[in-house]
Amino acid sequence: MNKDDIVKELKEGNMRFITDKCTYPNQNKEYIKKLAKEGQKPIAVIVCCSDSRVNPVLFFDRGFGDFFIVRTAGNVLDSHAIESIEFAVNNLKTPLILVLGHTKCGAVTSAIKKQSEDVNGGAIMKSIKPAVDEANSQSGCIIENTTKNNTQNMKDILKNINFKNKVDIISGLYDLETGEVIFYEL
Ligand SMILES: [Zn+2]
Repeated sequence: MNKDDIVKELKEGNMRFITDKCTYPNQNKEYIKKLAKEGQKPIAVIVCCSDSRVNPVLFFDRGFGDFFIVRTAGNVLDSHAIESIEFAVNNLKTPLILVLGHTKCGAVTSAIKKQSEDVNGGAIMKSIKPAVDEANSQSGCIIENTTKNNTQNMKDILKNINFKNKVDIISGLYDLETGEVIFYEL
């Protein structure tokens, strides 16, 4: 599958989800047995927030083995997250990475409110800060702009990695209220 095919799958799955037409593929015991035996071949790496309301398998209407998911609060990347992504691209040959922000992200809001001192050493806040700084000089909603800038910054980090296999990197936004995913640059 190439990038366009995968994005089409993701869009179709999300459309099924938001229109209550889910088919719940790849979610039975027979299928997990097959995956255990034959190994995983995820169609995409998804970098998203740890927020319990963000669940890519559900809102893309997919199942086991479909996504290699890396989650941190604020969907930021550190060395552990990056190595996990490298494993998927280099070893599992996953051809697409989607960096997915979401609306009403607590980590993003905290970074805007400069609560870094309060949050476990502030590593996550530091990673989001460049997105806040950029948003301060942009017009429009600072939360929306920071969220978008942050996914862009994470995408840029990934674009600077020399993966052993070809990989496309895209980004998007998940709306917590509607369940809809918007792809930024397609
Ligand atoms: Zn979040």
